This record gives sequence, structure tokens and C-alpha cells, in this order.
Amino acid sequence: MKTESSDDVARVLVVGGGYVGLYTALHLQRTLKQELRRGAVEIVVVDPEPYMTYQPFLPEAAAGSISPRHVVVPLRRVLPHCTVLIGEITALDHAARTATVATLAAEQAGDADVVLPYDELVLAPGSVSRALPVPGLADVGIGFKTVEEAIGLRNHVLEQLDIASSTRDPEVRDAALTFVFVGGGYAGVEALAELEDMARYAVRYYHNVQPEDMKWILVEASGRILPEVGADMGRYTVRELRARNIDVRLETRLESCEKRIVRLSDGSRFPSRTLVWTAGVKPHPIVAASKLPVTGHGRLRCTAALRVDGVDHAWSAGDAAAVPDLTAPPSAAPDAVCAPNAQHAVRQAKVLAENITATLRGGEVRDYAHEYVGSVASLGLHKGVAHVYGRKLKGYPAWFMHRAYHLSRVPTFNRKAKILAEWILAGLFKREIVSLGSLENPRAEFELAAGTGRHNETS
Ligand SMILES: Cc1cc2nc3c(=O)[nH]c(=O)nc-3n(C[C@H](O)[C@H](O)[C@H](O)COP(=O)(O)OP(=O)(O)OC[C@H]3O[C@@H](n4cnc5c(N)ncnc54)[C@H](O)[C@@H]3O)c2cc1C
Repeated sequence: MKTESSDDVARVLVVGGGYVGLYTALHLQRTLKQELRRGAVEIVVVDPEPYMTYQPFLPEAAAGSISPRHVVVPLRRVLPHCTVLIGEITALDHAARTATVATLAAEQAGDADVVLPYDELVLAPGSVSRALPVPGLADVGIGFKTVEEAIGLRNHVLEQLDIASSTRDPEVRDAALTFVFVGGGYAGVEALAELEDMARYAVRYYHNVQPEDMKWILVEASGRILPEVGADMGRYTVRELRARNIDVRLETRLESCEKRIVRLSDGSRFPSRTLVWTAGVKPHPIVAASKLPVTGHGRLRCTAALRVDGVDHAWSAGDAAAVPDLTAPPSAAPDAVCAPNAQHAVRQAKVLAENITATLRGGEVRDYAHEYVGSVASLGLHKGVAHVYGRKLKGYPAWFMHRAYHLSRVPTFNRKAKILAEWILAGLFKREIVSLGSLENPRAEFELAAGTGRHNETS
């Protein structure tokens, strides 16, 4: 890995290999083909993980409809003309145009972090869960943004069914069978709906747990859910979830969850061993640490050409960036910005790559403008809701559209084929209902054999 940028090689540093990072690098590989061949440009993509996560498929991964390895895209495979560096950018000095990267190798060898000079910066670290100071939340809550969280949650839910089935203590059973989700955006609603659907299917194999023994609760502070699909479809989703015996509580807040007792602002209180927090996102903390200009909401203040406002050689897009929405109706606030979603992230990445290419070649940049076309959401197997190009769909057609749309969008032909094959096979065979939670502790068996395990300590 080069750590010095030589005068004749322009280094484009892409921070984050998510939607924006991956697609920007993919486009740059094509638009800068000649420069890459001549060795005049180097594209470096830095991410702590060696893969991009296709987040809209996380709820299906949690439900077991897609294998975890098929919702991630290996960066090295799809970016053969870029340098992929696995590490975390811990500091940026844009005045000096250097980034500090903490790599696993440096950490394990006790070496200093790598300092990486660059010429053009694409800062696309996305967002993190916006946790509020709710008592107990940091101890028991889990988010739903990564493949690890989605699979961890699947295993956890199945494990709760095992706990409920094997205890005689009614309190333990109640807590195990109560699943609380806070936040009614698509992450929360899809995660809850897919997991409930999976658990409802799984309990048919438990002799002493019935579907009606489970309590699935959705807590939302505002008066509506799924704003992405519009007010009508949001109301339909509330009715659909309630018809499935899911307790949707609007205009309600989580007050505390200490000692696994959930307390809500409507005065209710119940024990629960599952608290999923999907109540919004905020820009990744590296954005604030970069000292680049940010808006009141902490997103990077960008121009419509995706430059960081007033800063040369710095670009951004996606969840971390506040990009003016040039298609907003005149009635909207004059400072309307694009919503943090994949639809904008993918399209912004294309314009971003074109603008960087134009800048390196001394050409003109163009503005990003895309009118939001609506959204699709899955509510479990064969159930969904959609509002796209003004058309509203519910039930099976919406679910089918959700699958067709995301299959067409997930990167690489290889991945599309594998996901399609998985769906076809899942239609022919029964669903998988085992918890592989023990994968999280693969050394347990060997520790037991070696006499250092938990059982040996207590015996
Ligand atoms: C469950 C779920 C479902 C969703 N469904 C939809 C949907 O149906 N439709 C839709 O439009 N949107 C959907 N979204 C939103 C969409 O996924 C995001 O808007 C999109 O991922 C934003 O892209 P991004 O590149 O800004 O961030 P990300 O895709 O999150 O990428 C950020 C990347 O930066 C990396 N990174 C972070 N910090 C650092 C650092 N310090 N150094 C280096 N790398 C770093 C991260 O590891 C990550 O890979 C969903 C989100 C979730 C969580």
C-alpha cells in the first residue's frame, strides 16, 4: 500500500464502501479507464468491512429468505481496478489532504495507523443508528443496519421460542415471547413484519407455543408509520399489521427498558428480552470529526454538484450528505434536501463519479436532480406495500414488486442469480427454523473439551 501520493498520480480516496462508495468507485473505474491504464489515477476505497451491504435485503435475510452472504457484495471482486483497504478512517486533515486509517494489521502488530495522502476526497460513511438517552437502551437494545445485526436478531428470536418452550416460569416465558420494535420507518416495519412472519411459521414446530402467545409491539412516536410509501399506504400497513395481531402503538415513546422491563409513554409496562431500535439515523461520527461544514442535522453541507460546500477537492453523497433537492415543489422549504435513502445514494454516486472525472480532466460538473419515485416495502412472505410512480399496490403484487425491484438493483449478475435460485428453492421446500446463535461463540465446544469452558468452571 502506497502511503505517499506522487505528483503525477491523482489519488481519489473513497471513504466507505457502502451504496455511495461502491457505486462511485464502480463508475470511476469505467469513466477513468484511460487514466487508470496509464497509472495517472489511483482509486482507494476504505471500509472496515470487505463488503457492501445491500440493506434493503436485511429484513429478508433476518427472515431466512436470503442467505447472509448473498446480501453482501465483495468489494475486491467488483472493484478490480481500485485499491481496497480494509480499515476505518479515524481522522481527516483536509487542509493537508491526509486521512488516518486504523487497520486490523496495524492494531494487531501494535503499529501506528496508516496516514494516507489524497487529492480528491469522497466522504461517504453513511449513517449510524440515532440512539436517544433512554435508560437501559444502550445495555439491551440492538439496531438493524448491518448483516450481523439482522442474523443475530434472527437467531435471537428463534432462541426466545426455545426459551419459552422450555421454561415453566411464566415471567421468563412472557419476556421471551415479547418482541418490541421502536421506530416505524421501513427498517423497523420491514424487520418486525418479516421476523413476525418467520416466528409465526416456526411456532408450528413447537408443541407448547402458539402464535397468539407471542406479543409483537411496534412503538412509533409520530402518528404514522412508513412515511416512505405515503399516508394512505402507511394507514393500510397499520391495519394489515394489526390484523396480524401486531400491537402498533402510534404517538407513543419508549421511556425506559432497564432490567429488560419496557416502559412506554402511554403508561404500559411489560418484560421483554428483545428491543430493536430503528428510530432514525444520524450521520456517521467521522463527519463531525472531519471539521468539514455540516448542517444543523450534522450532515455534510453539499452543493447540488455534490461538492462539500465551499471546500475544494471534497465530495459527498448519501446518508452523510445534505444535498439540495432541486426537484422539491415550490411549496417545500427553500432549503429542502434529498432524503437519506438508497434511491438517492445510487443516483448521486453516478453524478459524483462523472463530476470527479470532469474535474480531473478540467471539464464542467453537473448538478444532481432526481425526483423521488416512491418506495416498496415487504411485510413478510407474499405481503407488501408499495407506492411507486403514483401507483399504490398492496399485498401480493406489492411484495412481488419489492422482490423484482430489488433483484434488479442488487449489484452483480452472480448475486442476482443466487438470490433468485434461493427464492425458487424456498418456494419448493419448507423454511429453515433453527437458531445458529452458537456461531457467535465458535470456541465454546473446544473450551469445554479443554477444561476451560463455562460448564467446567461451574461444575
Ligand atoms: C434495514 C434497512 C432497509 C432499507 N431499505 C431501503 C429501501 O427499501 N429503499 C431505500 O431507498 N433505502 C433503504 N434503506 C436505506 C439505504 O440503505 C441507505 O440510505 C443507504 O445505504 C445509504 O448509502 P450510504 O452509502 O450513504 O451509506 P451505507 O450504505 O451505510 O455505506 C456507508 C459505508 O461506510 C462505511 N464506513 C463507516 N464509517 C467509516 C469509516 N470511518 N471509515 C471507512 N468506512 C466507513 C460503512 O462500513 C459502510 O460500508 C434501508 C436501510 C436499512 C438499514
